[in-house]
Amino acid sequence: MAISRSENMRRIRGKDTKPEIIVRNILRSLGYPGYRLHRRDLPGTPDIAYIGRHKAIIINGCFWHGHDCKKGARKPKSNQDYWLSKISRNKERDGTNQTALSNLGWKTLVVWECELKEQEQLSTRLREFLA
Ligand SMILES: [Zn+2]
Repeated sequence: MAISRSENMRRIRGKDTKPEIIVRNILRSLGYPGYRLHRRDLPGTPDIAYIGRHKAIIINGCFWHGHDCKKGARKPKSNQDYWLSKISRNKERDGTNQTALSNLGWKTLVVWECELKEQEQLSTRLREFLA
């Protein structure tokens, strides 16, 4: 699959390595190139979806989605009420979307931003999920 010019440029400059791009690269290297991105006809518009397999991969930022990790536990200094209620709404919506996907017969895998640091482990998880 061809890599878009802008994506390629980003990679060359080595900055803005977006979590989604990292995951997509791993998926291609594992031999699962047939994904669709941001399908609005699926609950929650999952980041990555394998239509035929009924499998979706959701990539979550640890802070925004309240992950149980160091980054997710970080508390903003100002406007705490605002952020905390926003994060709790995100978590609630994540749960609703996953239930909706599951009701449609889909399996979902959540990839957390902090997991991108251990790409070998992540790659194993992705392979097991898709196998
Ligand atoms: Zn995390």
